[in-house]
Amino acid sequence: MNCYLCEGVLDLKPSWRDLFFMDREETVCLNCSATFEKLIQGCKICSASGPGICEECTHWETTEFRGTIDYGQCLYVYNDAMKDYFHQFKFLQDVVLAEVFAEELVKAVRKTKAAAVPIPMNPVKLRERTFAQVDSILEAGGADYVHLLQKNEEVQGEKNKGERISTRGLFTLNGNSVPKNIVLVDDMYTTGTTLRLAAKILKEAGAETVAFVALIRA
Ligand SMILES: [Zn+2]
Ligand SMILES: [Zn+2]
Repeated sequence: MNCYLCEGVLDLKPSWRDLFFMDREETVCLNCSATFEKLIQGCKICSASGPGICEECTHWETTEFRGTIDYGQCLYVYNDAMKDYFHQFKFLQDVVLAEVFAEELVKAVRKTKAAAVPIPMNPVKLRERTFAQVDSILEAGGADYVHLLQKNEEVQGEKNKGERISTRGLFTLNGNSVPKNIVLVDDMYTTGTTLRLAAKILKEAGAETVAFVALIRA
């Protein structure tokens, strides 16, 4: 078997353990996996390095989004290796790459013991891209998930100072019943706006805790 990223041969010795427990096979060689940089949990909301809650998240707590996200975790730094991976996976649609981080992402999701809810894609993008990355990672990791939100097309792409108002209608509930404890799952945490908009709607719809897990912190 070959590494999914560099095509190098994976040096695998089948063991009795693999035969009995059907362990997941490695998908990436040691050289490649060493190029990714894991985030050490810093900020308890967004994983920014440093003690306590970071400046950005502290600022969010002074807005109408106060308390919308209870805690969160981003797993990896958006370094060059991750940029390459993400490009290959998301834009070149190399669907098999969902497996590379699936186990780790699902482990982080399960640790929350909450219902996994993917951040949905814009329907136009979904049609263009033909697959939802977050869903495919969760599926590759064998996790159950439920969609609660739908993303509305018309407000997409507005990223100015008026964002707070213009994105108000970014998400709507899709009618599924809202569990008490939710973990939102996304591929990338950038400003945190999207997650907070989603979390706010879910809290208003009765969710008691909303956590999130994102693969990458940009
Ligand atoms: Zn490799
Ligand atoms: Zn933070």
